[in-house]
Amino acid sequence: MLIAGNWKLNCNIKEAEDLSSSILNNLNHNSYKSEIAIFPPTIYIETVSNIIKNSNISLGAQDCSINISGAYTGDVSAPMLNDFGCKYSIVGHSERRNGKYESNKDVYLKAKNVMEYNMIPIICVGENAKDRDEGNALNIIKNQLDKSIPKINKEFIIAYEPIWAIGSGKIPTLDSINEMFNMIRQWLLNSGMNNNIKILYGGSVNKGNAKELFSCKHLGGLLIGGVSLNPNEFSEICIMAS
Ligand code: PEP
Repeated sequence: MLIAGNWKLNCNIKEAEDLSSSILNNLNHNSYKSEIAIFPPTIYIETVSNIIKNSNISLGAQDCSINISGAYTGDVSAPMLNDFGCKYSIVGHSERRNGKYESNKDVYLKAKNVMEYNMIPIICVGENAKDRDEGNALNIIKNQLDKSIPKINKEFIIAYEPIWAIGSGKIPTLDSINEMFNMIRQWLLNSGMNNNIKILYGGSVNKGNAKELFSCKHLGGLLIGGVSLNPNEFSEICIMAS
């Protein structure tokens, strides 16, 4: 399993150092079987990388540019993230799809860049509350998968994050997560993709609901936002994972 902590736009440099050191310290004093990855704000990737460099904790970015180089002020490209030791980059998080108007095509291009620079994209998909209420969740996700995932022979991860579950304290029923994961697994099979591709769940994960989430059949791990800023709770979930 992969337990991924997305810090979003949080922490100053001292807090980023303290958070990564605390997670490292907690995990060093316990045994755990999962892979742990943390996703600090881009500007602190080097700081965090220096702290976790001799550990098993992996590093990732929260986003990457659709461009590789050129006149794109403010962007950070896949080769730049690779230079700083990122193994992963999240692409298509709903806060970027909605907040920054990123299309499925943008997400596809970002994922392709990440793959081409030998990192692993965590490609996020998720339906909003209206889609869920109207019974359209499966179709919405299938459309996002069709349009956001490059059909090239490189590793990637899918993160299913219902938008209405992110930061809200609500999570879907296990039945609806299992239904969604079955559809995604079938989509991967129909698309001729590797059956080992991990499917993560994300949205209001905490130590209280993690145990039942771990019982989902196709769960390949968790993408955790808010709770990843709490080193003790985040570490407890990492240790709980198989
Ligand atoms: C996220 O933003 O990816 C996320 C899952 O957030 P939270 O855990 O805070 O709901």
